[in-house]
Amino acid sequence: MPTGFYRHLADTALEGGTFSQETALRVLTDPEVKLLPLLDAAFRVRERHFGKRVRIHILNNVQNGLCPEDCNYCAQAAGSKAEIPVFRIKPDEEILEGARKAHAAGAYRYCIVLSGRGPGRERVERMADLVRRIKAQWPVEVCLSAGFIDGEMARTLKEAGLDRYNHNLNTAEGHYGNICSSHSYADRLATLEAARGAGMEVCSGIIIGMGEQAEDIVTVAHTLRRLAARSIPVNFYVHVEGAKLGPLVHLTPEYCLRVLALFRFINPEAEIRAAGGREANLRSLESLALFPANSVFSEGYLNTGGHATDRTVRMIEDAGFQVERIEV
Ligand code: SF4
Repeated sequence: MPTGFYRHLADTALEGGTFSQETALRVLTDPEVKLLPLLDAAFRVRERHFGKRVRIHILNNVQNGLCPEDCNYCAQAAGSKAEIPVFRIKPDEEILEGARKAHAAGAYRYCIVLSGRGPGRERVERMADLVRRIKAQWPVEVCLSAGFIDGEMARTLKEAGLDRYNHNLNTAEGHYGNICSSHSYADRLATLEAARGAGMEVCSGIIIGMGEQAEDIVTVAHTLRRLAARSIPVNFYVHVEGAKLGPLVHLTPEYCLRVLALFRFINPEAEIRAAGGREANLRSLESLALFPANSVFSEGYLNTGGHATDRTVRMIEDAGFQVERIEV
């Protein structure tokens, strides 16, 4: 592959340009496109916007299981036989303690995650109150993932100081019916629009390895660009025994890295995160993810546990990157 191809990818992304479907697909699937020059091109774009800084996001699953939705990849879904801890929402003091610990461990952002279709009004007020109390005590950004919300709920959360609302697209619209039937893609888009309309940053990502085509991945990357997603968690599917969706596709570390590079080129200024499943799917190439991505999750994923944060920090520093903290 002539070096001009890699230069074209980086230059176009740095100029804010767009890519043809053909070019985007080559990033994912063309064996002539070599991994190391591809990662180097993605790094040029990453470096412009984020230097060598890495943001660690620490998740706290504050409610687990008992979800009426049927997302077939999710261990917490209705009909899942996965043996997972099931608990209703944790007490406020535990959620606040999670924020304290996340900040102490070096987190840039504390992500509060609740299973379920969506919060009622009362739950939104409680989350808003928690956000206020966290922001008053620790310099850490706060993100909430609580399912479907409407415009009024989004405004309440924004007024409390919530920085971001997470709601993943997970896959392309054309593939959505294969992974979930209890809600529609349009429902997901409406929640993202509600969060955006209230002035919150939108965090929305994808899960790779659920039987989608490479074209679906390109479509999601473009959809998130159109939605101006500031944060894009790229998850790599890990099958949990008992979950309805089986282990469909064997993801290779190289393919995972190509996906991260593609998201960096199409969404050059977004926080691209090597998210759930990075340990299992990137394996010994994990630190190469930092060349396209500027953020990682640590601990507390939806389906599986992650590495402890001290190990994540060491991986970042060993690769020559720096953990980013919020300046006070
Ligand atoms: S992904 Fe969320 S909405 Fe879907 S089943 Fe799991 S917890 Fe429920």
